[in-house]
Amino acid sequence: MMRSLVLGVTDRTVPRRLITDTKAGRAVAHRFVAGDRLEEAGAVGKSLNDSGLKVSLDYLGEHVTSAEEADSATASYVDCIRHIGENDLDANVSIKLTQLGMGFDDDVAAKNLDLIASEALAVGTTVTVDMEESAHTEMTISLYERAQTTHGNLGIAIQAYLHRSVDDVERLLPLGGHIRLCKGAYAEPPELALQSGSAVDDAFDRLTEILMESTEVKPAIASHHDARIDFALDKARSRSAPWEFQMLYGVRRDRQIELAELGHDMRVYVPYGEAWYPYLTRRMAERPANMSFFLRALVGK
Ligand SMILES: Cc1cc2nc3c(=O)[nH]c(=O)nc-3n(C[C@H](O)[C@H](O)[C@H](O)COP(=O)(O)OP(=O)(O)OC[C@H]3O[C@@H](n4cnc5c(N)ncnc54)[C@H](O)[C@@H]3O)c2cc1C
Repeated sequence: MMRSLVLGVTDRTVPRRLITDTKAGRAVAHRFVAGDRLEEAGAVGKSLNDSGLKVSLDYLGEHVTSAEEADSATASYVDCIRHIGENDLDANVSIKLTQLGMGFDDDVAAKNLDLIASEALAVGTTVTVDMEESAHTEMTISLYERAQTTHGNLGIAIQAYLHRSVDDVERLLPLGGHIRLCKGAYAEPPELALQSGSAVDDAFDRLTEILMESTEVKPAIASHHDARIDFALDKARSRSAPWEFQMLYGVRRDRQIELAELGHDMRVYVPYGEAWYPYLTRRMAERPANMSFFLRALVGK
């Protein structure tokens, strides 16, 4: 309910300009986004690596509407992957398929995903396919299946709030790779997604259990929620194969370090680039306190 409200308001032109065109808006964005440029993201990644944290670099952008934009985003990812290789970063990349062309030309997205996966393979790293709005779930999974079957160095995000997710996980397990489990960040209708926080928590734990029991995939438990983290730690006790935690840049940094110091793999999702507005609105919708942080910054308090 709150998520739909925040996403509904921030989708309008005036709030968008209030955030993108003001110093306060940019200040809030910089809590969650490493910077506009690859070099800034690389420097943040290096400093996180130095603190014992792994990284996933995300070049921000989504829902492009031309093959030129999709190809340009792909070229930025190729630069990013080369930067990872040249600077020996402990990092992979996270991509959104609507940024690579999915939605207006799925073949363009498939071609771009192939290119990114091959480049990542060449520097010995992996690619995680983010999960976007439910209108794109099926195509995201199909394109992922194709790319993972060809290259073998990919993973995909699964949203616990979707009713279909248990079936999707069962379908994806035989492909190997990694599965990032998250709660889900978009406003979705009751026919497709659980609406209450407690139901999403239960679904998240159920999926954590399935992933931790799997010998085929590497689970990536992406949550800042202590109860979910504790549940995963408990289930991981009987797991000898690798798995990891993931959290977002700018969210619960102390907890990230604490879990890494306890010996757990922790990967921090680090977004960068100029197209940060939709990403920021999802972070606000998750936690209305972030909205008041922005409003305080706006009035200079
Ligand atoms: C690495 C990573 C990748 C993700 N990829 C995707 C994806 O591909 N698709 C997708 O739909 N969603 C994705 N998400 C977002 C996810 O679906 C949730 O919306 C988000 O993680 C909040 O859920 P939570 O599990 O942290 O629990 P919550 O119950 O929302 O949060 C638990 C606690 O974490 C802290 N917290 C959580 N969010 C914030 C925030 N924005 N700002 C400040 N504090 C916060 C608060 O202390 C809060 O009480 C990703 C999340 C992570 C961590």
